[in-house]
Amino acid sequence: MSREDSKRLWKGARFPEDNDSAFLLDVHERGIPGAKRMASYADDHEVDLVIVGAGAGGSTLAQRLARHGWKIVILESGPFWDPDKDWISDEAGQHKIYWTANRIIGGEDPVELGKNNSGHGVGGSMIHYAGYTPRFHPSDFETHTRDGVGADWPISYWDLKPHYEKVELELPVAGQDWPWGDPHRYPHAPHPISGAAEQARRGLRQAGIKVRVGPVGIPNGTFGNRPHCIYRGFCLQACKVNAKSSPFVTHLPDAIEHGVEVRAGSHAVRVEVDEGGRCTGVTYDSGGRQRFQRGAAVVVAGYSIESPRLLLNSTSKRYPDGLANGHDQVGRYLMVQGATQVAGRFPDPLRQYKAPPPEISSEDFYETDEGRGFARGFSIQTVGPLPIAWAEHVLADGHWGHALRAYMRDYNHWTTLGLLCELLPHAENRITLADETDQHGMPVARFDYTQSENDRANIAYGGRVLEQVWEAAGAQDTLRVDRYAHLVGGCRMGSAPEESVVDSDHRAWGIPNLFVCDGSTMPTQGAANPALTIMALASRLGERMAAQKVRT
Ligand SMILES: Cc1cc2nc3c(=O)[nH]c(=O)nc-3n(C[C@H](O)[C@H](O)[C@H](O)COP(=O)(O)OP(=O)(O)OC[C@H]3O[C@@H](n4cnc5c(N)ncnc54)[C@H](O)[C@@H]3O)c2cc1C
Ligand code: SF4
Repeated sequence: MSREDSKRLWKGARFPEDNDSAFLLDVHERGIPGAKRMASYADDHEVDLVIVGAGAGGSTLAQRLARHGWKIVILESGPFWDPDKDWISDEAGQHKIYWTANRIIGGEDPVELGKNNSGHGVGGSMIHYAGYTPRFHPSDFETHTRDGVGADWPISYWDLKPHYEKVELELPVAGQDWPWGDPHRYPHAPHPISGAAEQARRGLRQAGIKVRVGPVGIPNGTFGNRPHCIYRGFCLQACKVNAKSSPFVTHLPDAIEHGVEVRAGSHAVRVEVDEGGRCTGVTYDSGGRQRFQRGAAVVVAGYSIESPRLLLNSTSKRYPDGLANGHDQVGRYLMVQGATQVAGRFPDPLRQYKAPPPEISSEDFYETDEGRGFARGFSIQTVGPLPIAWAEHVLADGHWGHALRAYMRDYNHWTTLGLLCELLPHAENRITLADETDQHGMPVARFDYTQSENDRANIAYGGRVLEQVWEAAGAQDTLRVDRYAHLVGGCRMGSAPEESVVDSDHRAWGIPNLFVCDGSTMPTQGAANPALTIMALASRLGERMAAQKVRT
């Protein structure tokens, strides 16, 4: 029997070899235990790396490099959470985990910002992400070559594949064997699914659509000291149980154990450079007082709106238009996914709140099919709106007053499927700085967004497919809401400074010790949720920096 075959017969969960986070967690408390004895660096201590943002990208990168002895400070604008004290299982009570600072939106199809886009606090947006963790397809890295749209990445799927596998083991990901893209398996078996997802699965199958359970970043069974999922459906409100995977439980405990300081309540306002054009550190606002952390290199990891905002605000005599912006690329090509949801009504009670929202998915429509009349595609996933989100869904379909109350009372009979449509990158969909300033004295971000004809055709087609699924399943009624999800791009990676902000090693063009490592570096977004890919990108950069293949 080959080694590969014998690995398939291993029983129980495998553990990552170089990340002890799951074992470092306390079984009785949900805060990060190491936080109490965390390293502390003086502002004038030149650390090896200052990272802005303790989210998916920043935390994963810090964990990788701390294991190699790097001295790192992460400046995080939001608080250091203690789930026992700070988080509640209440839909209305968890707004504190969202990034709700003032932002201005514009364009023909403006994107509502706030609760559905980005998080604030240690752990970043994955504190309130749903938990879907699919990989991108190989085609996502070369949409221009294959389909004549979007952009080619300067790296390929195969560069990221070892890091997908690594991060899938660290989260760990649970799901059925995956037949789409580059077919692969997951380290944990699929979770059991709820009645609502079972009804959706029947509908998809009746419509002739292939479907799989998962993939979700929630351990299925024993995994170190991580508590197991209790299927109570509050993943989008932060998992008070600590069962759902996010950097808070998967990378920060190990990073802190290896000497990383996470400095919460520290909002970066400017990356500073010397006369030679090298970064010297980051100026940040701590409780209304401006401080400066020295660093030999700086990584910006504030996600798709805040990373461009910080670079654009970091003006100097040498860089009057902001950092890495010599070709007016910072803030451009920001993307969201079309995330229309259609709910179906059935006679049996289904109780769609009784499970994590991510349960089953299909990537049958992911790739370009010329017969559909547009390029690229979409995926289909279950979502589990809690009552407030359900009310918004019903309202969006045009019902209010008596009808709204009737639909609310009927909540237990509904099950909901959502789309993730790949909307294409466009230069004019961008972040700029507005005239208004925030409490840190920084100009607030303005986000303009307009869909292309291809984008509109993709969303319209996907919506019709969902209606057909519910029709095939015999739904008695349907309700539809058109919305967006996720954010990526804004500091995209590329092969030349005229068309991108960073190179294939996330290094800002023209500034040797400045890097961007978060969702903003993605040139395209596929029809997959982005968090796993952001972590895989950070894992790759960390490995290359530690091996000095990327020098700072
Ligand atoms: C409601 C919701 C559901 C989602 N569901 C899924 C899902 O199911 N699957 C999936 O893959 N993805 C999902 N996502 C998206 C996913 O969470 C993000 O794509 C991912 O976390 C982004 O990683 P990042 O490292 O780019 O940024 P983040 O994880 O957002 O981290 C950025 C961090 O930087 C901090 N920061 C920003 N600016 C500054 C500054 N100036 N100074 C200091 N700190 C700063 C922020 O506070 C934040 O903590 C979801 C997101 C939301 C909001
Ligand atoms: S369903 Fe599971 S992962 Fe989601 S919030 Fe509840 S315990 Fe956490």
